[in-house]
Formats: sequence, C-alpha cells, structure tokens
Amino acid sequence: MNATVQTAGIDDTSAAPPVFPIPANVFAETVTEVKHYTDSLFKFRMTRPASFRFRTGEFAMIGLPNAEKPVFRAYSIASPAWDEELEFFSIKVPNGPLTEHLQKIQPGDTVLMRKKPTGTLVLDALIPGRRLYLFSTGTGVAPFAGVIRDPETYEKFEQVILTHTTRTLAELHYGEELVEAIKTDEILAEIVGDKLLYHGSATREGEHKGERITTLLETGKLFADLGLPPIDPAVDRAMICGSMDMLKDTAALCERFGLEEGANSKPGTYVVERAFVD
Ligand SMILES: Cc1cc2nc3c(=O)[nH]c(=O)nc-3n(C[C@H](O)[C@H](O)[C@H](O)COP(=O)(O)OP(=O)(O)OC[C@H]3O[C@@H](n4cnc5c(N)ncnc54)[C@H](O)[C@@H]3O)c2cc1C
Repeated sequence: MNATVQTAGIDDTSAAPPVFPIPANVFAETVTEVKHYTDSLFKFRMTRPASFRFRTGEFAMIGLPNAEKPVFRAYSIASPAWDEELEFFSIKVPNGPLTEHLQKIQPGDTVLMRKKPTGTLVLDALIPGRRLYLFSTGTGVAPFAGVIRDPETYEKFEQVILTHTTRTLAELHYGEELVEAIKTDEILAEIVGDKLLYHGSATREGEHKGERITTLLETGKLFADLGLPPIDPAVDRAMICGSMDMLKDTAALCERFGLEEGANSKPGTYVVERAFVD
C-alpha cells in the first residue's frame, strides 16, 4: 500500500497542506540533523528504514515530498553501512531544482529516498591491496565519508589515504571534521589507529593555492607531503570521486601509474564515480 506525506513549508493558501501519495519504491524519512558549512555546502542526517541495506560508498536517489512528481537526484550515502541513520553531504545550487528546496530542510521534515542504492565506489570492486587512495574534490568526499568510517576498509587495507581538494579552505571543514571525529570515537579510533592519512588542499587559498589534485600527483608533492612512495600497482588501489574533468584527469594519472579501472562485475585496481552530472 502507498503511504502519504503531508508537505510543510510550501506556498499553499488552502487550510490543509496538500498530501501526495508516496510511491511503493520510495521511503519517506525524517530529518534528524542539518549542519551548514558554507553558503554552498551542508550535511543532513535522517532516519534509516529498517529494511534499507546498502554497501558503503553507494549512492541513492533523494527527493522532497513537495510535488506529485518530485525531482529525484543521485546522492552518495555519506554513512558507513553500519550507521543507524543516513548521512548526506550536499551542494546548494542556486535555482537548482532539488537543492534550492533541500537546503531549507529542518529536523522533523520529510526527505524521500528511492529504495534501491547502487554505485561503483565499493570495496568489492577493487582487487585486494595494501594501500587505498580516496581522491575527492568538492562533494565528491561524500562516499568516502562512509568508506573511512567502515571497519571493513581497515580489515582490507593497511593504510587509507583521503585526499580532498576544494576551492576554499572553508569547503574542507566537513572532511576535516570527519577525520577528527574518528580520532575521538572510542570504537573507530581503535580500529583506525594511525592507518588513516588525510590530505586537504584548497586551490584558491592556503598552502596549496593553485594546485589541483592532478598537479599534486604529477609533481609527486602529494607523496612527499604524506611521506609515501609513488603509486605502485602491486600494492596501491584508488577510488576517485569528483567532477567529470577531475575524474578524467585523475583516472589518466592512475593509469600512468599502472592502475586499471574496475567495476562491480570486474574488480580492478581503481574505480571512479561522478560527483555530479554537468
Ligand atoms: C552518482 C552521483 C552521486 C552524487 N552525489 C552527490 C552528493 O553526495 N552530494 C551532492 O551535493 N550532489 C551529488 N550529486 C549531484 C546531485 O545529483 C545533484 O546534481 C545536486 O544535488 C544538485 O541538484 P539540483 O536539482 O539542485 O541541480 P541540478 O540540476 O542537478 O544541477 C545543476 C548544476 O549544478 C552543478 N552541480 C550539481 N551537483 C553538484 C555538486 N555536487 N557539486 C558541484 N556542482 C554541482 C552542475 O553543473 C549541474 O549541471 C551526485 C550525482 C551523481 C551522478
């Protein structure tokens, strides 16, 4: 049977707000927390349906109950698979069909999520290795927010390196906060220990001004900063999430180091996922 949701906060002059039917393939969940980081970035957490299973790193389709045919957009699940709630890290696109409304959500509001998650940024799509690089730009850090908080990651890899590149330093805060939270979490701190390395860089300010992740890889500065050898296909694996250009350029560099692209159906030594569609 279809459930229904009463919408809140939409411009409606009649006494009762409109009620739209919720399709059978969609969950209607309650927002539990919202945190804004910059004018263009925020995270939100919402309840997790008991029957919703996903693999860490996958994405789901998110929408709002503000129309009979709501706009749904792909969102990386920023939670690890064990999380009791679901976390998302979102852009605010001016006049964006979804995010112009989504950025206004408050705890207690309803968010819709299609029931079937999918994606390639999963450990299963990688051949076993010793070191895992997670290359991200902008909201591309979202799937890795789950990967770095999943104990399975540290069972499979001896070292995990999260790189996050943004335009401004303020845009790095979400990722920095995640890494700090791991250090102070009683259970995760013990599992992760010193296996997680973080490299944040902003292209418009700070010590890495003018340096894209591809520059840091090409010059070897990333490895020097981290005290690691260059990527070696015998031991290193990578996941990449960012804009189309970033994916293309970073994937080309990974291939230059000898890595080969994998997929769910054919695991490889690196995998990619778009952070958005242009
Ligand atoms: C596999 C996948 C996973 C995604 N995961 C996330 C996620 O975790 N968080 C998230 O915020 N978005 C994510 N997106 C993008 C998301 O689906 C929407 O595009 C975004 O929420 C904006 O929706 P909109 O309807 O407001 O604008 P849209 O009409 O979807 O986008 C308008 C324009 O805004 C720009 N844009 C859209 N999303 C982004 C972004 N994330 N960063 C920079 N520019 C962007 C693009 O130029 C796009 O053409 C993902 C997309 C894909 C394909």
